[in-house]
Amino acid sequence: MSHKIAVIGSGFSSLSAAAYLAKAGHEVTIYEKNSTVGGRARRLVKDGFTFDIGPSWYWMPDIFERFFADFGKKPSDYYQLDKLNPAYSVVFEDEKITIADNLPAIKETFEKVEAGSSKPLQEFMDVASENYDIAIKNLVYRPGESPLELVTLQTVKKLGAFVGNVSKDVRKKFSNPKLVSILEFPVLFLGATPSNTPSFYNFMNYADFGLGTWHPKGGMYEVILGMKKLAQELGVVIKTNSPVSKILVDKNNNAEGLIIDDQKFLYDVVLSGADYHHSETLLEEKHRQYSENYWKKKTFAPSSLIFYVGFDKKLKNIDHHNLFFDTDFEKHADEIYEHPKWPDDPLFYANFTSVTDPSTAPEGCENGFFLIPLAPGLEDTPELRNQYFDIVMSRFEERTGQNVRDHIIVKESFCVNDFIKEYNSYKGNAYGMANTLTQTAFLRPNLRSRKVNNLYFTGQLTVPGPGVPPSLISGKLVAELIEKHSPS
Ligand SMILES: Cc1cc2nc3c(=O)[nH]c(=O)nc-3n(C[C@H](O)[C@H](O)[C@H](O)COP(=O)(O)OP(=O)(O)OC[C@H]3O[C@@H](n4cnc5c(N)ncnc54)[C@H](O)[C@@H]3O)c2cc1C
Repeated sequence: MSHKIAVIGSGFSSLSAAAYLAKAGHEVTIYEKNSTVGGRARRLVKDGFTFDIGPSWYWMPDIFERFFADFGKKPSDYYQLDKLNPAYSVVFEDEKITIADNLPAIKETFEKVEAGSSKPLQEFMDVASENYDIAIKNLVYRPGESPLELVTLQTVKKLGAFVGNVSKDVRKKFSNPKLVSILEFPVLFLGATPSNTPSFYNFMNYADFGLGTWHPKGGMYEVILGMKKLAQELGVVIKTNSPVSKILVDKNNNAEGLIIDDQKFLYDVVLSGADYHHSETLLEEKHRQYSENYWKKKTFAPSSLIFYVGFDKKLKNIDHHNLFFDTDFEKHADEIYEHPKWPDDPLFYANFTSVTDPSTAPEGCENGFFLIPLAPGLEDTPELRNQYFDIVMSRFEERTGQNVRDHIIVKESFCVNDFIKEYNSYKGNAYGMANTLTQTAFLRPNLRSRKVNNLYFTGQLTVPGPGVPPSLISGKLVAELIEKHSPS
């Protein structure tokens, strides 16, 4: 039976869910508070420069293929995808290590840094590849309704991998601190430190070295545009500038619609892809499943201070993706997770998509995206942003051996206050709730409300977790649950 379904938000998870629901024959309308779709993955265009506001690493291309294949399509029907070589580089105090686009070449690089390290790398990658297979085939496409979902012949054999952690495993095999940093980097996408991330999640290392880093021509926003087009082709109606201020519940505890600009809109099913905490604040308190105390105790992924910078010249000694790991990772991690404060000596990440994709900057220019991970909930002021811009520019100039400050013609920033204002993000988190052992699968906030019938949630705070590929999966999982449970 066809239902009228309202979807709150237009991030990756909402667009994904809307497409699946429309394909199943439902009448779907998306309500997005901002003027453009895409959520955290929107685009900033200024003076000929194009910047992705949020995500920039396109990993796990198989998940995107699987998403589009569910609609009889391919990613190439919507955007052009190129594999990056080098995938990225990592800048340390005394050298830069470049990661190639294939494992044999990466093994050679490891050998140069630490003789004999290619063998343990292969062993580590064999396990990572096996875990990837189990994770993608068996685990991440499950809705987190019950712990039993995780019990399969393969996962039972892997129980130990949920007890150990990625940091310990890496350190058991590698002593060179640079190689340790490189191997610990991928799980940072899951939002917690490697020492707080179960061993099993080293499948992210397979995503990195095994599957590679890709770039959609024009930037990640092209994927959003592709999904928007697909959703509209399937009949989804998208309404922007439509902030939802209330989710309505009738006296029988059924979700019955939304309030937008004091107007009431009635629906059979309501699905929110906005941040879970915010979504529940749209309900009367008695209809919320999780208390403020619940959210306070959770480990959130970091927030970020981001600068979008246009330079009037081509820069040297840079790659498409660059990790500046030239300061103490442990200290910065402590300032994010244990003792939240602005970092004394931050690590940062920078991308210059114009290095490989000239369409993203005017001719002869470079577009720079600089990101410092921060604890969520920190004070955010123009003075602090300026202070950290200076720190980043000085380090960048020193490490790459050039003056860039005199060549800035565009500069914008985004930080904690913007995450809250733009996305109603809890404490200004950038990418949701971390995937730690106690915040995995059925232990994450539910896709389906336990208090209100026909009310569902999707996105990076629920199952399976943070990141673009998990958001695509989250949309699929919630659409399947709605099909299973919605009134006939
Ligand atoms: C800086 C940054 C870098 C990242 N880098 C990467 C990366 O390189 N690779 C990767 O895979 N992932 C990355 N991520 C994570 C990834 O972008 C997210 O996990 C994903 O985009 C989340 O999608 P979502 O649909 O869950 O949420 P969102 O994109 O946040 O979508 C929620 C939507 O709900 C809307 N909304 C909120 N409240 C309301 C309301 N009341 N009414 C109507 N609409 C509302 C918001 O405006 C937003 O559009 C990054 C994230 C950030 C922020």
